Amino acid sequence: MSQVISLFNQSGGVGKTTLTMNLGYHLVQRSHRVLLIDLDPQSSLTTFMGLEPLDIEKTLYDALLADEPLPIHPNIHGVDLAPANINLSGAELELVTADMREQRMKDAISPILSQYDFILIDCPPSLGILSYISLVASTHVLIPIQTQYKAFQGTDLLFRTIKRVRSRANRELKIAGYLPTMFAKSNSQDQRILQAVQEQFADVEGIVFPHIPRTTAFADASEQHLPLALYAPKNPVVSIFDQIAEILEKI
Ligand code: ADP
Ligand code: MG
Repeated sequence: MSQVISLFNQSGGVGKTTLTMNLGYHLVQRSHRVLLIDLDPQSSLTTFMGLEPLDIEKTLYDALLADEPLPIHPNIHGVDLAPANINLSGAELELVTADMREQRMKDAISPILSQYDFILIDCPPSLGILSYISLVASTHVLIPIQTQYKAFQGTDLLFRTIKRVRSRANRELKIAGYLPTMFAKSNSQDQRILQAVQEQFADVEGIVFPHIPRTTAFADASEQHLPLALYAPKNPVVSIFDQIAEILEKI
């Protein structure tokens, strides 16, 4: 059965896109068929993967609003990508008045669902309709959390959104867990926040995944359009991604 996982947190800059790309790559290394979906009009995932958003003709916009098939660019470092560009910001507005809007992401995915073991959706940094329909189409939500003072800021709203999706449109949605990111070992605040995340989320629902340290190599790897494992194979964070991919196999 395919797992459809939304990487969701309405805060920007918490590492969602970086995680989507790298976890996708590691799941492929573990012999899974993986599709990444860029659902953010800012199109960072599309750019990180080496495509130029302005050159792309078809995006999710066409699948969501014109009933076209999901546009898939195959085999970028082994991973398939459904890209985004700024057109997707139009979808945010047009979906508000579209009929059956809640189901549209699910409908866009369902014809290709059996071709993949994992579909990872990189949500935009908002609680708007695009994130909502992504959660409706997902089996799981994975919540990246930056280990800084703002870690818990907005988590109430985030949980409320998940609850709303569950009560209205997708009862089966599970929280896979929380993934602390950008952890700086040398910073005492990061240590306090990491501990708080581990304690507070441990008994809610889902697990607290191994944390990703703050690593300057990410900026360079994304500039080179490479997953960290290809850009800096000896970086210790590579094995953490592999551990997380292994955990995702069992959700
Ligand atoms: P989001 O998708 O949540 O907005 P991104 O994945 O785009 O976040 O990350 C924001 C910026 O931080 C990018 O420039 C990325 O290269 C960088 N980054 C992501 N994860 C880390 C990390 N663990 N350590 C250092 N920089 C990171
Ligand atoms: Mg992003």
